[in-house]
Amino acid sequence: NERMVGKAEKLAALGQLAAGIAHEIRNPLTSLKGFSQILKERTTGQEAEYVAIMLEELNRIQNIVNEFMLLSKPQEHFILKEHYMNHLISHVIKILEPEITLNNMNIITCFSNDIYAQVDDSQLKQVLINLIQNAIDASSTKRSDIIIYLNEIDQVYYEIKIVDFGIGISEERQESLFQPFFTTKEKGTGLGLMVCKRIIEQHKGSIELISKEGFGTTVKIILPKKITEGAPSK
Ligand code: ADP
Repeated sequence: NERMVGKAEKLAALGQLAAGIAHEIRNPLTSLKGFSQILKERTTGQEAEYVAIMLEELNRIQNIVNEFMLLSKPQEHFILKEHYMNHLISHVIKILEPEITLNNMNIITCFSNDIYAQVDDSQLKQVLINLIQNAIDASSTKRSDIIIYLNEIDQVYYEIKIVDFGIGISEERQESLFQPFFTTKEKGTGLGLMVCKRIIEQHKGSIELISKEGFGTTVKIILPKKITEGAPSK
C-alpha cells in the first residue's frame, strides 16, 4: 500500500511536469502553425506537399498537447452545473454529424428518461466526443451504426452506453486501453481514453470497455446525478 502511495505521488508530479511542458510548447507551436499556413498559401508543387505534411504533423503535436493540458487541468477548473443529459448527448452528436454522414453511418439514440445531472458540461462533452469518435473510427470500414443509450439506474446513478459493431479490440490489447500513448491508429494520440477516465473519475463515476474482436465494443459509463453533497438543488 505504501508503494501505491509513492507511485501515485510520483505520477502526480510527473503529470505536473508534463502539463508544464505542454503549456510551454503551446506558444511556439501556434507560431509555427501560423507561419506554415502562410507558406502553404505561397508555395506550389513538391514544396507545397512538404508544407502540407508539416502542417499535418504540427496538428498532431497540437492534439497531443491539448489532450495533455486537459489531462492535467487542475481541479478548480472543474465547474459543475445541472444539465439535461439527453440534450448534452444530442449536442455532441450534432458536432460529429458531418463525419457520420460522410461515412454513411447512423447514430441511433435510445434515451429512456430525461436525466438531469450535475456535470462539467465541457469536460463531459470532451469524453463523449472522444468515445463516439473511437466508435466511428472502429465502424467506418463496416459502415455499421452506433447506438447510444441513456438510462436511469436508480435514484442515484445513471448510465451512458456507446455501442458499436466495429472492429472490436483483441483481449491482449484490452489491458492497455487506458495507458497513455497506446494507439492502433496512424493518427492517434493514444491519450483519449486516459483523458476520458480521468474526467469520469472526477465526476465520481466509472468507465468500462467491453469488447469482442470482430464484433464490436460497448463503452459503459456510470455516473451519479449529484456529485457533491449539499449542492444546491436546481
Ligand atoms: P486514440 O483514439 O488516439 O488511438 P484512445 O485512447 O482514444 O486513443 O484509444 C486507444 C486505442 O483503443 C485505439 O487506438 C483503439 O485501438 C482502441 N479503441 C478505443 N475505442 C475503440 C472502439 N470503440 N473500438 C475499437 N477499438 C477501440
